[in-house]
Amino acid sequence: MSDGFANARTVEQARYHALARTWPALYIALCADIVAVAFVHSALAPWWAWGILPAVLVPKSLIWAYLWHRKRNVIPPSEECTRAVRILGIEITVWMAMIVAWQVWLSHWGTGESLLLLALCMGGQMVFLLFGLLHLRTSSILSATFCVLGMLYIGAHSGSALIGIVVLLVGGVAGLAYVAQGYYRDFTSLVSSRLSIETKTREIEALSEDNFRIANTDMLTDIGNRRRFFRDLEQALDHARQADKPLALAIVDLDGFKAINDSNGHLVGDRLLKAMAQRLQDILLAHAEVYRLGGDEFAFFLRDESNPKQLISLGDGLIESVKAPIFVDDLRLSLGCSVGFSTFPQAGTNSTELYDRADYALFHAKKTGKQQTVLFSAEHEETVREAALIERSLRAADLEKELFLTFQPIVDSGRNETILLECLARWQSPALGLVSPARFIPVAEQSGLISTLTPILLRKALDAVRNWPDTIGISFNLSGHDITAPDKILGLMSILEKSGVSARRVEFEVTETALMMNLDQGIASLNALKATGARISLDDFGTGYSSLSQIQRLPLDKIKVDASFIRNLIDSEASQKIVRSVSSLSRDLSLDCVVEGVETEDQLNMLTEMGCNLIQGYVYSRPLKAIDVQPFLDQQVRTDVVAVG
Ligand code: C2E
Ligand code: CA
Ligand code: CA
Repeated sequence: MSDGFANARTVEQARYHALARTWPALYIALCADIVAVAFVHSALAPWWAWGILPAVLVPKSLIWAYLWHRKRNVIPPSEECTRAVRILGIEITVWMAMIVAWQVWLSHWGTGESLLLLALCMGGQMVFLLFGLLHLRTSSILSATFCVLGMLYIGAHSGSALIGIVVLLVGGVAGLAYVAQGYYRDFTSLVSSRLSIETKTREIEALSEDNFRIANTDMLTDIGNRRRFFRDLEQALDHARQADKPLALAIVDLDGFKAINDSNGHLVGDRLLKAMAQRLQDILLAHAEVYRLGGDEFAFFLRDESNPKQLISLGDGLIESVKAPIFVDDLRLSLGCSVGFSTFPQAGTNSTELYDRADYALFHAKKTGKQQTVLFSAEHEETVREAALIERSLRAADLEKELFLTFQPIVDSGRNETILLECLARWQSPALGLVSPARFIPVAEQSGLISTLTPILLRKALDAVRNWPDTIGISFNLSGHDITAPDKILGLMSILEKSGVSARRVEFEVTETALMMNLDQGIASLNALKATGARISLDDFGTGYSSLSQIQRLPLDKIKVDASFIRNLIDSEASQKIVRSVSSLSRDLSLDCVVEGVETEDQLNMLTEMGCNLIQGYVYSRPLKAIDVQPFLDQQVRTDVVAVG
């Protein structure tokens, strides 16, 4: 295909181009025909009969042929092509009518031989026209008809059998030519459409290969992305199932990346991730391909492998190698990582199950101190199963009816006076019995159901506090989800306002871990709560990872020292030191300090010596049912009176 044809965008342009290429040759052939006829008749007819028409037509034709030839590769706009082709068609038809009439006229001077030549010429012209004017069907058929009529006329008037045979032969050839014209047209269009389909297919293939690569590659690190990870994992699992072989899946999460990214900027963070991806790939080269699942999370899987010892040792080796510093320009950066493994078929039989289990193992690795390898175990399986059961039951529960609160006094030990009651949730499930919050709150948090639970519990807590003396307030536990979504916090504030209970009687407890889910949003929520007049206390202090400097940013009124420091307070000097320093820290920051989980008189005495006098624990009371609160308070007053008396 010439350039011109390739450039043609419409059928009209393609037709123009095809004509421009064939028509000059045809002009020359017809001119040769005319000259031959004129030459033969120059001896038979007068000069004006054989000479005038060739003298006019031949030069004009040659000029046309030259012009068409010159512009054969220049394709005008589509409308211009249509016009040029139409004009050419009319010209040719008129031109042929004149030539045939001229030849018929000349036949009057003809002899047997010259008549034969005339018949042959017209036949030739007819075939030329049928082939040459492929793209001008009306003109070609009209002109060919003129030739046929001319030949019939000559045949009928010559009386020569030879001419009759020639006419028949030429007629047959013309018929064939006409049919061939159709075949040729079909054939060429078939070939060209096949060629163009092939080209298009190749283009589409190249494009989809590119798209596929882009869609499956992590653009930052140039390794496989999450999509490819799951696709490859599915394939590997199919293979493992068929071959009855095990498979291990690992998720690797970098520890400390966020801090580096926040303090050094995203460009440094990106380069660090790139370098880390390369490092992981180098370490695992012999075992597996590394994929980036997103953020600072990577994954890989090992075929034919499920041996716990080997997996743990591979994971630990990986953690060791990741620790080595990485240089980004002049910066010397070090990261840690945690690894969670799950194995096929023990932990799961499909990619989603295996991923979830490895993620669960990773979560445990991070929760229990970071920089560890954890393999999803049968014990984990039990926990997951129980969580699923609890989640199903929670979703089906009538929570308004089944949830209730117990209240545990927080006592000012110096005055033996209850100042607050911590609201602790309980769930009386018809299916599961009495469920402790230690079991259902984490499930509710993970499944998002907590945003349904908290408003119900807060309403119940506010209903309860109305029945007690004004001097006593409540302390209500909030989850991370409650404080990281602005709309949730607004909902809780509106419940508090509608209750009519003074916000001064309400404290909200949040843990460090909950705050760390989104520190900025958490602080904003706490500020909003504080603006209502409520107070904020930091629960389970000492169990999280937050630094003391972060505490200064929080709008706190109180710190609650976690029960874990009290359990071995009597015997452990370390615990004593911690409690003493937290107590003095809170004094320095003008915060109150509550000590939780105080069970014995000895602990209470030691804490009193340390200057801790806000106490919560079994030593005063277990969590009480709502109806037992007033009797407890009354009894407290009585013992006080007895003590004073
Ligand atoms: P927490 O906020 O640290 O609550 C204190 C837990 O320690 C309570 O367990 C309480 O019964 C227990 N406790 C109190 N004194 C002692 C003691 O002297 N010795 C011992 N061994 N334990 C003591 P509980 O009621 O099972 O609550 C467990 C956790 O569930 C709570 O820990 C809190 O994190 C969560 N929780 C409870 N209610 C709610 C709630 O309404 N909302 C949210 N978001 N979480 C809640
Ligand atoms: Ca609490
Ligand atoms: Ca606590």
